[in-house]
Amino acid sequence: MLDERVMRIADGAVAGVTPSRSDIVHLLRFDPYSVEAAYVCARAREIGIRACGGRGFVYAQIGVDSTACPENCRFCSFAAVNTNPAEYDPSQVEVPIGRIVHYAKLFDDAGADLISLMATAGLDFDRYLDMVRAVRASVSDGAVIMANTGDLTFEQAKALREAGASVAYHALRLGEGEITDVRPIDRRRTMRYVRAAGLDLMTGVEPVWADADPIELSERICDIVEYDPFCVGACSYTEVEGADMGGRRPALTGFVRYVGALVRLTCGDAVPIGGIGGVAWVDAGCDPRNRGYGEDDATLRKKVASARQRLKLDGFAV
Ligand code: SF4
Repeated sequence: MLDERVMRIADGAVAGVTPSRSDIVHLLRFDPYSVEAAYVCARAREIGIRACGGRGFVYAQIGVDSTACPENCRFCSFAAVNTNPAEYDPSQVEVPIGRIVHYAKLFDDAGADLISLMATAGLDFDRYLDMVRAVRASVSDGAVIMANTGDLTFEQAKALREAGASVAYHALRLGEGEITDVRPIDRRRTMRYVRAAGLDLMTGVEPVWADADPIELSERICDIVEYDPFCVGACSYTEVEGADMGGRRPALTGFVRYVGALVRLTCGDAVPIGGIGGVAWVDAGCDPRNRGYGEDDATLRKKVASARQRLKLDGFAV
């Protein structure tokens, strides 16, 4: 017999009733592989499919630099605290603009639905604008460029839009200000500036670790919708060798999926994309997770094709 409150919350969300924070805390009590979690995920998928019209999206990400980053997110291999000064060469941290443009054109030609330019918070902002402008001038008119940078002023958010970006990624991370050197108030303000500047917002609950505090997690899950995003997600992190995460360990995949489903319950139909899948990522350039993927043209094209295939196999139209 399923927990009655779980059914009431999940069924209510399908009918348009937004779960409360205490509802989300209740749902977080269940094992991500329990029948209750399976029920929640199934109902969340119904909402998510309705919201996106059943369409899946391939998003491409280009890491544009690996500057030793002063924001010091402990989970990131680019954080200054995780950088070995003996191996760090400041003249080698930027991907040349010509290479960034090459990747962007390749992803555009291969049919990616969005091209993200991911920078560290240590990259000079004017330099980043040059990269956005160069990509805008090279890709097709309909290509969507997403900016992923450090915190922004309102003027910087507007400048990104004028340079040719139409979306920005930004998130208030779990443990912000504790496992990062970022002030939560700045993250929240940036998300508001993004929308005020006329950019669409992508955001998420990240990085999810095992045994994350349910109160903090429920806050992040429930607050997301108030920033008016068009796309949401949840993700864990890849452990960086030698990084001090205060004993935290990345969450199990099933738990991350469950958190994504809870995000979808709270967003309802208000957010078109994400939370339950429907987005597959391909990457090139600098990688803060040190995954070491191949980057020749054929490999990148193959990655876009296999991302599309994965979406199809998960029941999304591409
Ligand atoms: S996650 Fe981003 S802001 Fe944080 S250290 Fe890495 S590059 Fe800097």
